[in-house]
Amino acid sequence: MLPLSTPIATLKMIGPAFSLRLKKLAIETIGDLLYHIPFRYKDFSIVSKINLLQAGEKVTIAGEIASIGNVFTRQGKKIQKAVFRDETGEIEVVWYNQPYLIKFLHPGIKLTIAGEAKWFGHKLLFESPDYEIIKALDPKGVATQHPRGGPTSSAVAFTSSGEGRMDSPGMVSTTNLVHTGRLVPIYPETAGISSKWLRSRIDPLLHKFYPQINEFLPISLRQHFKLIGEKEAIYKAHFPKTYHEAESARRRLAFDELLLLQLAAKIRRGQWQKETAGHQFRIRQYKSQIQQYINRLPFVLTTAQRKATGDILTDLALQRPMNRLLEGDVGSGKTVVAAIAMYAGFLNSYQVAFMAPTEILALQHFETICRFLEPYGVKIALLTGNSKQESNDFDIFVGTHALLQKKVSFSKLGLIVIDEQQRFGVEQRAKLREKGANPHLLSMTATPIPRTIALTLYADLDLSILAEMPKGRMKVKTWVVPPEKRQSAYDWIRKQIKTSEIKQQAFIICPLIEESETLTTIKAAKIEYQRLRKEIFPDLRVALLHGKLKSKEKEKIMEGYKKGLIDVLVATPVVEVGIDVPTATIIMIEAAERFGLAQLHQLRGRVGRGNQQSYCLLFTESNNPDAITRLKLLETTFNGPKLAEFDLKMRGAGEIFGTKQHGHINLKIADISDLSLVEETKKAANFLLASPGKLSNFHLLRQKLEKYTIEKIVPD
Ligand code: ADP
Ligand code: MG
Repeated sequence: MLPLSTPIATLKMIGPAFSLRLKKLAIETIGDLLYHIPFRYKDFSIVSKINLLQAGEKVTIAGEIASIGNVFTRQGKKIQKAVFRDETGEIEVVWYNQPYLIKFLHPGIKLTIAGEAKWFGHKLLFESPDYEIIKALDPKGVATQHPRGGPTSSAVAFTSSGEGRMDSPGMVSTTNLVHTGRLVPIYPETAGISSKWLRSRIDPLLHKFYPQINEFLPISLRQHFKLIGEKEAIYKAHFPKTYHEAESARRRLAFDELLLLQLAAKIRRGQWQKETAGHQFRIRQYKSQIQQYINRLPFVLTTAQRKATGDILTDLALQRPMNRLLEGDVGSGKTVVAAIAMYAGFLNSYQVAFMAPTEILALQHFETICRFLEPYGVKIALLTGNSKQESNDFDIFVGTHALLQKKVSFSKLGLIVIDEQQRFGVEQRAKLREKGANPHLLSMTATPIPRTIALTLYADLDLSILAEMPKGRMKVKTWVVPPEKRQSAYDWIRKQIKTSEIKQQAFIICPLIEESETLTTIKAAKIEYQRLRKEIFPDLRVALLHGKLKSKEKEKIMEGYKKGLIDVLVATPVVEVGIDVPTATIIMIEAAERFGLAQLHQLRGRVGRGNQQSYCLLFTESNNPDAITRLKLLETTFNGPKLAEFDLKMRGAGEIFGTKQHGHINLKIADISDLSLVEETKKAANFLLASPGKLSNFHLLRQKLEKYTIEKIVPD
């Protein structure tokens, strides 16, 4: 028997082409496929006879095609019209624009139809229903498909009540259905991989391989938290008989995710605390210099910044390495807090690495840090994709993940700062740490994570939150602009830019078309840029910025924008993080409904950084009233964490983190806002770690955890 770790590319039913596509869903092995869990079900479990059909009822009917053909509409579109019959009657079925259907849905073929019958004039009709061709039957009338087993065989065998006999014409077996006649799973999909395709692969593989799924939780824990077994959970998640079964499966799998997340964080924390830094910074000794540095800043620190600075300096003076997360809304002033920590590193003759997720940001931080620290004799280097490290005779290295390259080395790395830490994975952070001997680590994020959630997700980190903005910041006036006012919005933008006494500039953010910045997104941005430049703002200086530009070009454009040589910067959502241009006062966001509120809030944070009134215009093509109401929250709410809470309630946790989330959080099933499950799994994690021998008895659990932790978990 093949193991679950078998690559799916080797399976005949999948093959190399599909396995490439599946990679996008992170499915590479049979096991991955079994763990690809549906996120909802279509309820086609009621099997009806045609003469008992009721309008509006979701059902499956079983029978045969009586006749079928393509019909042209007046608009020249092809409709597929069929008459479908069972032993009780006939019903009409139509599909649209699927002419290929008539090639295999021949008259006489046995199949099921699933959907909702609707009144059409005086007769009932199925419109674009799902269908499933019934597998050939052997002479005894039993489907020749594999027999059904299951974790508890009665729990999974699909009811067969003699319907499998073909004793009257049109009578068809409804056993062994996959796509109809049951709760039908709907999966996360990707290009070229539909739920129907997934179902038809997962169904046979599941039956064959689920016995190999191993239970990894101790029985006592399962009993205490009333969890079904792992095998059973996987089985029932794909093909539940009832919603109750689906829910108990989901609960078990969500429990697994949250438990592993928290266990891993607690273990990482333990590992971290055991280490002693060779880098106990002398803080008291340099106290007056640090204080003087703070006094000479061009502004007074906010109370929140002072408190966070205190937390950090205290950590730096300790034996064990700091591992702190600095969370603060856009514009709350995280960089200067990091600069103070870096200055402390410099005073102690340590090197500092500062890593940012994009080249644009790295460049900007480089400039800011130079401004903050060069006057004190600190030597600062910039390292991005194309730059080479000439020497390591610098005090601070600012860069992108280029800092992780093998050839980059430090002589005495004492502190690492990571900006927008959620954009980096655990391994990347670990790699950077390995460049020194247990250096201190300061992570920063503007992702407004509600505190309760931060404490779960980042249980291995200490937390400092900048919940307060520097004084004198004006609220960014925000409007959801109806489509008919688009032209007047453009006119208004021009007027602001052309007639204002103080320099004003605008961002126009192109739609987020796909999750990451793919060619499609860039193409759309290019088209929009041309339109704006030629048709809308021919009299203004318009430029385009996207992530696939060469870094030199990006730098040039950002420089130009900062210097005011560009009036309107058309950009893909890459500018989302951290860009600081005080004269940018207008941001216009296209297809705003595609973003989470917290993300929009971060984008909005690109303006309102100087002392001029700033504006955010949100455009949407959606006329869904819920979407509009959601966007309108931005008109009245200016608090990142609060917006994140709204998103959490309305759209689930995925929104807070956007789609680019890597690293700590990798929840496919669990909802981080399910606080009661979070609480239960926290208890379970503590229970496991408190038990004698800790995890040493639970070999399989430990194996699962290795994926989430940096170092191997050695039982102690
Ligand atoms: P973020 O937290 O989004 O990274 P930044 O560190 O970029 O924010 O700071 C935003 C702007 O606010 C910068 O121009 C910075 O110089 C300024 N700033 C930071 N702290 C203060 C303060 N206490 N008072 C006034 N301005 C400040
Ligand atoms: Mg920042």
